[in-house]
Amino acid sequence: MCVGAGWVAGVDIGATYTRVVIADEKGMILDRVKFETPRGDRMALPSSIARAIRELLKKVGASEKNLKGIGVGSIGPLDVKRGVIVKAANLPLENVPIVEPLESEFGVNTYLVNDCVAAVVGEKHMGAGRDHDNLVYITISTGIGGGVYVDGRVLLGKDGNAHEIGHMVVDAEGKLVCGCGKRGHWEAYSSGSGIPKLARLLAQEKPELFKRSVLASSIDPTKLTSKDVYEAAKAGDAFAKAVVEEAARYNAMGVANVINVYDPSLITVGGSVALNNVELVVDPLKRMVQDYAINRIPEIATTPLGEDVGLYGAVALALGLEQLPIKRLG
Ligand SMILES: [Zn+2]
Repeated sequence: MCVGAGWVAGVDIGATYTRVVIADEKGMILDRVKFETPRGDRMALPSSIARAIRELLKKVGASEKNLKGIGVGSIGPLDVKRGVIVKAANLPLENVPIVEPLESEFGVNTYLVNDCVAAVVGEKHMGAGRDHDNLVYITISTGIGGGVYVDGRVLLGKDGNAHEIGHMVVDAEGKLVCGCGKRGHWEAYSSGSGIPKLARLLAQEKPELFKRSVLASSIDPTKLTSKDVYEAAKAGDAFAKAVVEEAARYNAMGVANVINVYDPSLITVGGSVALNNVELVVDPLKRMVQDYAINRIPEIATTPLGEDVGLYGAVALALGLEQLPIKRLG
């Protein structure tokens, strides 16, 4: 579907930063801006997005009447039918309207989806997924999330959360508590926020190995980050390597669950933890998923769109390339 000559806006709302781009009708990103996601006042976010769109249109030499659509991928949970961020994880924001303020400001269709849904739409229309009807995008970042196509249709579910793969249970004993408050979830073990918890757990189980680790001697274990663990593992630290291996095992269980329930022909992986540590996060998956998957193993690759995958999806939605099964409420 073509919207005719004009420009569209793509928005990615993250816990720390919000990014806004202007793209042409082919989806080429022409200009971009990034600002700290405003906290507190619930109307500050939609107004700062609107301001960014107006500034970017001016910079590319377009007037507001050239804007043809707006796509937004956001942290959630969302109410996609009302176009509202219900509650943003790690942000003091609740019931933030996105769709209504932007539609009344610019008079164009505005689409709000979960950031991982935006990412898989980006992969499908502008990335590695063009030739795939069965496609999963997985982000391994501060959290773990996914977006899913089955038989050419993007999955949403009753509330738009059909793909909360990071909260699949991978440990029946529930040794670690997830950011959501429940036990045993994949995200609690091998996401950016999970890996320090996994390291502390292994430090109790392997005290001798931990004592000899750089992570015990030079880093305050209460302030440990996933970056510390991966850097120590790359430098050959035996304890850090054990943590990374264990994290890879949990990732393999999670990805095998994805393969077993969605049967994709392609899985692309993104997110800062995966993209910064491809050889320690993505490569082991190809080997270890075989231990848990029953369905034929699909191609597994890092996303070619990098950190922009969700922005490309927002642009694709704004261009009308994907028809989402969302019934809008008034
Ligand atoms: Zn969880």
